[in-house]
Amino acid sequence: MKVYLKKCVGYDNAEDVLMPVLKKYEDRFSEGDKVLVKPNLLSPKSVESGITTHPKIVEIVLKFLLDLGTKPYLGDSPATGTALEAVKANGIYDVCKRLDVPIVELDDPVEIDGENFKGIMISRKVLEADKIVNIAKLKTHVQMIMTLAVKNTFGCVVGKEKSAWHFRAKTNTNFANVIIDIHNIVKPTLNILDGILGMEGNGPANGIKKYFNVLGVSENAYALDHAIIKALNVKEKYVYIIKEAMRKGLIPRYELDSNWEGEQIKLPLTAPIFETVTNLVRVFERVPKINKNKCIECKICENRCPAEAINIDKDKFIDYSICIRCYVCHEVCPQDAIKLIRKLK
Ligand code: SF4
Ligand code: SF4
Repeated sequence: MKVYLKKCVGYDNAEDVLMPVLKKYEDRFSEGDKVLVKPNLLSPKSVESGITTHPKIVEIVLKFLLDLGTKPYLGDSPATGTALEAVKANGIYDVCKRLDVPIVELDDPVEIDGENFKGIMISRKVLEADKIVNIAKLKTHVQMIMTLAVKNTFGCVVGKEKSAWHFRAKTNTNFANVIIDIHNIVKPTLNILDGILGMEGNGPANGIKKYFNVLGVSENAYALDHAIIKALNVKEKYVYIIKEAMRKGLIPRYELDSNWEGEQIKLPLTAPIFETVTNLVRVFERVPKINKNKCIECKICENRCPAEAINIDKDKFIDYSICIRCYVCHEVCPQDAIKLIRKLK
């Protein structure tokens, strides 16, 4: 089992860096395979935002798959908007049109039971693929602390079912196990991490853009994610998915092939590190608060809140007694109008 972390400064150099690594996996694909390419299309944002997978990485992967005679198609189920809106906003649409690759919405749910959680609604278009290539983005995440390759497969769950899982899971540890169940159902053949431009701070949508200048590849997403957080000097225990994957023995022994020195990364304010520094800090937690000057009353947060804790018409009220601190509202707000403030537990 190998994990590749390759230094890559800028997207203009990405093909020279990524293609030779992809070619090592040629034998995993057969002519005629229907291959779902699953980028991170969180929301309809420009390529400069650093929120979604870069079109250049998608283009390299599609060329690789087309040269092998496979039949790739590209799809996702974004947190806000549609896959089509997202690819039109970030330039992936033009790449797919040029290469004649279909774009699909990951809808049409099929109910599947995971190891821990039952009744997960996975898109039929995921289940019908012969192979899946997962192209994640290197970002921080206010709930899961980091969003990398394992978390990217959460987008195979259809529409609002994603928000519902936040509510059913209740705790971050449970939610990490939901994601692990989903990832183990989806089982990508190949995982790629676009970490040239990523995000730190309060990601995955409203953090700070950062050039990490790295591309990662592995057939095992747990190994890839583990390698990247080690290189970023982030402790395993702070990243819920990694911590749970380690507890379950899901991270295989891997051989690291890397020429990347790693980087410092600013974790979200919600990272458990800040809750364990002192006893004083431990009695506080972060809750969402709407900045009334920035809010445009689009109600996306209200509609996506799994606990129905937000009432925009009622003076942008958030009921903290039922809020489950999943921070979906922070993630989906297009105006960055939701701040995470300290509140006594
Ligand atoms: S998503 Fe943001 S802008 Fe829209 S209603 Fe909520 S806080 Fe306001
Ligand atoms: S208010 Fe925000 S953090 Fe609280 S449950 Fe709703 S979406 Fe999650």
